[in-house]
Amino acid sequence: MDTHLPELDFPTDACYIAGQWHTAARTLPLFNPSDGSELSRIARGGADEIAAAVASAQAALDGAWGQLAAVDRGRLLMRMSALVLERADQLAHIEALDVGKPLRQGRADAVALARYLEFYAGACDKMQGATLPFANGYTALTLREPHGVTGHIVPWNYPMQIIGRSVGAALAMGNACVLKPAEEACLTALALGQIATAAGLPPGALNIVPGLGEEAGAALCAHAGVAHLSFTGSVGTGRLVQTAAARHTIPVTLELGGKSPQIVFDDADLEAALPFLVNAGIQNAGQTCSAASRILVQRGVYEQVATRMAERYRALRVGPAMDDLDVGPLISGRQLGVVKSYIDLAQDETDGGGSATSSSYFGHGVRGDTREGVARVIAQASLPDGLPAGGHYVAPTLIAGCLPGHRLAQEEIFGPVQVLLPFDDEAEALAIANGTDYGLVAGVWTRDGSRALRLARKLRCGQVFINNYGAGGGIELPFGGVKHSGHGREKGYEALYGFSTLKTIAIHHG
Ligand code: NAD
Repeated sequence: MDTHLPELDFPTDACYIAGQWHTAARTLPLFNPSDGSELSRIARGGADEIAAAVASAQAALDGAWGQLAAVDRGRLLMRMSALVLERADQLAHIEALDVGKPLRQGRADAVALARYLEFYAGACDKMQGATLPFANGYTALTLREPHGVTGHIVPWNYPMQIIGRSVGAALAMGNACVLKPAEEACLTALALGQIATAAGLPPGALNIVPGLGEEAGAALCAHAGVAHLSFTGSVGTGRLVQTAAARHTIPVTLELGGKSPQIVFDDADLEAALPFLVNAGIQNAGQTCSAASRILVQRGVYEQVATRMAERYRALRVGPAMDDLDVGPLISGRQLGVVKSYIDLAQDETDGGGSATSSSYFGHGVRGDTREGVARVIAQASLPDGLPAGGHYVAPTLIAGCLPGHRLAQEEIFGPVQVLLPFDDEAEALAIANGTDYGLVAGVWTRDGSRALRLARKLRCGQVFINNYGAGGGIELPFGGVKHSGHGREKGYEALYGFSTLKTIAIHHG
């Protein structure tokens, strides 16, 4: 297993400010989740580096970047997109070592980053205002303008995709960005700095300051020169970011956690559904905001779905990211502890190879089961011998038997753990699906088109997939949550509204 970073054309222990690399006075270690080894050192930026980055962004707005025509901004983003694609394998390699993401998944993220840049490149010169019917003797019109300096705080789980969707849209609208990547994984963010330089992005249009959340992140949120904040991360931190934004009255987009359901009706095409049911739970080792962590199944097909999902779970291959298997390690020892503590809430019924299909389970696991309400592990992947000792591996785990109000069915676990929940009818499915604090994504599997649309209208979330499910997918599809999953929308054309402000001009000409 290769545990070394590929040759890089940028320093890992520096901030990218005004198009230059500034070696940091203080650094932090960056660890490889696959074996726990120290991968590199990264800059520990703080208030000073953030202040320099904001000043550089403002200078870019006042200078070359602010003067560019929309079409030229688009051409620069297009160039960045092409360079990302050229480097997709290198970026996947970096991400495998930094995030613990299997190579294929990292490559898909790099391709998505390129596609975000391409999508927003094309949108730069398509954003139009309106003329407004107003009083006689007037012409009134609206203009879409950049906010100014935008702050972008991203987590470690999908650095490339999340940077693509927020920084890409912000640059398209003519903002200048200060990006604070996560301290657990920030190398592909830094690679984008080098790509920006190579593409000819004017210095200061994109600045990158790695560091701790409570230092660099908090400093970015508190800086009076920042006009908009885009935050992706946990609910708790999101509240801190929103509070900080309120102190200087700036808008904030919050992309937070989820407990997203996929709902499977008796009439669903199960062959089509099954791969989506499991993949949307184990992709990126379940560390996906829109992971389908709850699988709601109508009782007529419950046993069949549980059996098939259990088979798939037992076949999942877990290993180091560079081995490119189904599931890599979790990001950290801390996250491993959290995920294991959730699994420990369920009784292990997988003894003897995990017979989730045996009558001892299903004879009691459906309607009338006196044990219903007891969470049970019905299938687990096995961890192979010889996994690197320092890696943060957990066995993907399928749980059944708990009631919808159980912590396992309510709280975001952020690991490869899914919970099966049976239901009788549409009303019950809807009540369970809507019955958490979150509202990010939902999936509905049915051949009844009217039912699918009824549910899509009543589900309290930001995205509904009918007879498919896109955990994190869909560059073109506006994305974001309701309730504790956050507010504001990124991705798609819609994001351009969030990363701009509307100015109305009324001209009196008699
Ligand atoms: P986190 O909130 O701990 O950290 C996210 C980012 O916030 C990091 O860059 C961190 O350094 C920074 N941060 C931490 N404290 C801060 C502070 N006081 N001020 C400013 N910034 C601060 O989240 P995490 O554990 O890294 O990420 C996992 C969470 O992110 C999960 O809840 C997941 O659902 C969510 N997430 C949501 C989406 C989405 O699009 N809705 C996407 C990916 C992840």
